[in-house]
Amino acid sequence: MKLKVLGPHGGELPGCKSTCFLVDDRMAIDAGALTSMLELPALAKVDDILLTHSHFDHIKDLPMMSDVVVGRRDKPVVIHSNSECIETLQKNLFNNVLWPDFTKIPTKKNPVFKLRSFRAGSNIKVGPYSVKSVLVSHPVESCGYVISDGEVSMAISGDTGPTEKFWKVLNKVENLKLVLVECSFPNQLQALADISGHFTPQTLEKELEKFDRRGAEVLLYHLKPAFVAQLKKEVRHLPVHVSELGEEFDF
Ligand SMILES: [Zn+2]
Ligand SMILES: [Zn+2]
Repeated sequence: MKLKVLGPHGGELPGCKSTCFLVDDRMAIDAGALTSMLELPALAKVDDILLTHSHFDHIKDLPMMSDVVVGRRDKPVVIHSNSECIETLQKNLFNNVLWPDFTKIPTKKNPVFKLRSFRAGSNIKVGPYSVKSVLVSHPVESCGYVISDGEVSMAISGDTGPTEKFWKVLNKVENLKLVLVECSFPNQLQALADISGHFTPQTLEKELEKFDRRGAEVLLYHLKPAFVAQLKKEVRHLPVHVSELGEEFDF
């Protein structure tokens, strides 16, 4: 599997991109930096987008993408997420008010986007990948995922505060090579992290004690742009790597 970091942050500033990863050049995880990081030919090759949840920093490039790939593909891009997220996109984004309904444009039969929902916690198939969704801890329905290609697996936590289930699932995954884990706010903003469902370095440290790593690499993402330097200092003693914009991993 190949993973490219298109957006390692939980927001935007110059040099920071919202959450977005590209798997094997064909499946995106979250859509915070699709159009700002991919040229049109690469963008048009993305067949599936797996969304962790509906928050803006994770979906913001969907409308921009619809606008540039329309007429460039012969089949819809399939957007996969839990039912709450899919309902939110249809009701509040592709609603012909905030943005045209690209689930019916240019035609109902062959639109730019197809929305596909699943029950949080279920196993789904996305292209060649088996994906296990795990409900995590966030103010809206947010999912972590384990993604397997039949040989190796990777996982992503989604936006979450302290959780048990995600680690329990991970501890049973064979050939788990890489885990993306969110870490949003510095320790001094613990109260904010708690009410908004996010990790700080100190809660992350406790979470990692629940994880039987067996050699898997832990990459941090979703650092809030205003606190990147401080967060890097606060995680320096932990056995983790802070993912960087444009980084690629082969495993
Ligand atoms: Zn977020
Ligand atoms: Zn969120």
